[in-house]
Amino acid sequence: MTSSSRLIRRGAIAALAVGALTAAAMPTFASGGDRTDAVRSAIKGGKARNVILLIGDGMGDSEITIARNYAKGAAGRLALDTLPLTGEYTTYAVNKSDPSKPDYVTDSAASGSGWATGHKTYNGAISVTPDGKPQPTVLELAKKAGFRTGDVTTAELGDATPAVLSAHVADRSCEGPADMAKCPQQDKVNGGPGSISEQQVQTGADVYFGGGKARFAQTIKAGQFQGKTVLDQAAAAGYNVVSDAAGLAAAKPGKKVLGLFADGNMPLEWTGPLAKVGGTDPAKCTPNAQFSGPHLRDMANKAISLLDAQSKRGKKGFFLQIEGASIDKQDHAANPCGQIGENVEFDRAVQASLDYARHHRDTLVVVTADHGHTSQIIPLEAQSPGQTATLITADGSNMKINYATNTPGQSQEHTGTEVRIAAQGPQAANVVGVTDQTDLFHTLSRALGVRH
Ligand SMILES: [Zn+2]
Repeated sequence: MTSSSRLIRRGAIAALAVGALTAAAMPTFASGGDRTDAVRSAIKGGKARNVILLIGDGMGDSEITIARNYAKGAAGRLALDTLPLTGEYTTYAVNKSDPSKPDYVTDSAASGSGWATGHKTYNGAISVTPDGKPQPTVLELAKKAGFRTGDVTTAELGDATPAVLSAHVADRSCEGPADMAKCPQQDKVNGGPGSISEQQVQTGADVYFGGGKARFAQTIKAGQFQGKTVLDQAAAAGYNVVSDAAGLAAAKPGKKVLGLFADGNMPLEWTGPLAKVGGTDPAKCTPNAQFSGPHLRDMANKAISLLDAQSKRGKKGFFLQIEGASIDKQDHAANPCGQIGENVEFDRAVQASLDYARHHRDTLVVVTADHGHTSQIIPLEAQSPGQTATLITADGSNMKINYATNTPGQSQEHTGTEVRIAAQGPQAANVVGVTDQTDLFHTLSRALGVRH
């Protein structure tokens, strides 16, 4: 027995000792102390064996602060707050007809294409340039170089953020073979590579988890799989297709896994009062009784363990993107509890990734967003022309959240603000300062040692 463990047996002093040990084991960055050595030791160059990229869709600084205040209190910290190196990046898109001009408010397609390919493009584009050329994605480059790859979301798998890694189409709406109206060039009927879901099967990531089962059940119109569904195509490509939490838990390494856990987007974690004109009474959020698993943290843990097991014998590790998609979708809907529940669950996926990285220090973990969004914390006495809701936070205080980027009742809008990017592990220093979303492509590909 060491002297310190003897100490721990002694009541009051023990509590102090445990506190001190915890503080020493986990460098804190918000203590007011001198952080120079902690930041210096967090800077690592070189290659990463694994890269985990976590995207909170629409998770601007305001969304993070709202989630933190509600779940942890104003002085608390989320897991995503603990990454040692932080910067901000710009997110703007470009005009399709004149790419020399910025489109200041990006959507998830243009922004995701930025980090997926290193190229700015127009809103709606899925990893094609404004003149329609497909650009190789970091997932495709990683796969070609021998890394295992994964693409995880709480949205439909064919939604923009997961799609930018694993497909190239002119418009994000072209998710399934029956949705090709805006993508004649990619339509299989015209000899193209097919819809987003068909291309995702062809790209062949080892792990795809999300919603969007209905798109994969659509019928392919031409080519080798004419008359079959995209699910048939996936089975022929060797995918183990699973559709619920039990199937996810039972999935074994050795086979590629396609997990489709909802017909459309996956259900929300939390419910509560919608924001409305004139505001709401103070309330707390409640778990969504209609939730059917798996949670994002379950998908994150499973993806990490499958990819880790599959890459164990090889020289190369894995590249994995994990998206919390409905922070954005519930921001659009002026649904604060929906939004916060998704952000808190996303934070659990961040924690799962940090837990893995603690034992695999050659893992680059990046946590960021694709664009800013509507929700803002405003004074309790403020009279907004938009929709507001008041929530009772972990501090036991009231927090008034405002949605006012569009006429009340309409879908609320993205904003053009820069957003947070935080990282740890090899190459993480490249997120520090103010960078652009396209710079992240170069940080990721440098960490993986892949080029295009
Ligand atoms: Zn959105």
